Amino acid sequence: MSVDATLPYDDGNIFARLLRGEIPSKRVYEDEHTIVFHDIAPWAPTHLLAVPRGSYVSWDDFSANASEAEIVSFTRAIGQAARDAGLVAGGYRLIANTGRDAHQEVPHLHVHILAGRALGPMLV
Ligand code: 5GP
Repeated sequence: MSVDATLPYDDGNIFARLLRGEIPSKRVYEDEHTIVFHDIAPWAPTHLLAVPRGSYVSWDDFSANASEAEIVSFTRAIGQAARDAGLVAGGYRLIANTGRDAHQEVPHLHVHILAGRALGPMLV
């Protein structure tokens, strides 16, 4: 079911639980503000999710309400995780589904990092 990105933050969402260590994840990067881990149902040979530790429902919430330090740190963390994973030579795609029409399913901001094959043009 898709998320209404205007709803208040729900502490029980799956990525909040994952951040608290209540459910496992295959983490590839973490720092003060961000964790990056493998998606459980990958769309591409490499499919990582970058998640800020702060409680932000969506890209809309994060871009409006996160501190400049969090925004800079999250941006750099995504780039670093992609470099660490060796994705730069072949290239990668970032996607942040935001709200209902974009089919956001988890109400905690996450940026998909997709790579490992020619992904083709964005069709929708
Ligand atoms: P969205 O549609 O919200 O942009 O993407 C949610 C993503 O989270 C999906 O790609 C889905 O496979 C992934 N996901 C959902 N639950 C879990 C989980 O428990 N662990 C991991 N690693 N990924 C999850």
